[in-house]
Amino acid sequence: MHTSGHQLLEVIDTDFEIPEMLLHSIQRRGFTTTSQLTSFARWYRGLWEKGPLNEPPYNHVTQIGDPVLRQKSSLVPPEAVTSPEVRLLVKLMTDVMRKYDCVGLAAPQIGISLRILVMEFKEKLRDEYTSIEYKTREMNTLPLTVFINPELKVTNFEKKIFPEACQSVRGYSAEVPRYSGVLLRGLDENGFQKELSLKGWNARIAQHEMNHLNGIIYTDIMNRKTFTCTCWQAVNANRGRVSIGFHKK
Ligand SMILES: [Zn+2]
Repeated sequence: MHTSGHQLLEVIDTDFEIPEMLLHSIQRRGFTTTSQLTSFARWYRGLWEKGPLNEPPYNHVTQIGDPVLRQKSSLVPPEAVTSPEVRLLVKLMTDVMRKYDCVGLAAPQIGISLRILVMEFKEKLRDEYTSIEYKTREMNTLPLTVFINPELKVTNFEKKIFPEACQSVRGYSAEVPRYSGVLLRGLDENGFQKELSLKGWNARIAQHEMNHLNGIIYTDIMNRKTFTCTCWQAVNANRGRVSIGFHKK
């Protein structure tokens, strides 16, 4: 029976063919066992293939520590605002925001350092809060809102302190002071200039997402002693057998 190294490699990985000349060279050097040939094949393939690397824009949310969350995002060039690429980016951001049940998302959160944000506060969120919370936090529904190259102006400097969270700091929350009213100015997804006056919780969302475009995360401005793992009770109840997932279908 004869099994050449070449045939062996084809069994291991049918996509990969090692050149005959190289194979002879490997065999001359004594790499004859299966594992030696397999590891060599991986190394050799790695010379020209990047492998299953995931490139942005992502379909998940980037996490604190990722340098993209610390950069000041770039303006979307005027000629690119209505380009297919930016449209696709806005769609991806909207999809990821909804998939992760967020009320806002900034482009760096899917790995793209551009000044784009999306926000949405759905009516059904009313069920997730007590009526007192909903009222005192001044929550209100907000239809899907897209801003490209937004600018934020504070219209009510009174600060309110409430707990907030971020999908880029998944599993935690903290109390964060925010201004009570803001005005957002920028372009919509069709390139038209628009402005939107927001108060209460929606003003908070806008400030949070604008912070992302400037490389700021809520942990920079939170009341530090209130920083909380949102599943700490579950950790105790389940003897520590709790994990925070970063992937959602
Ligand atoms: Zn965030």
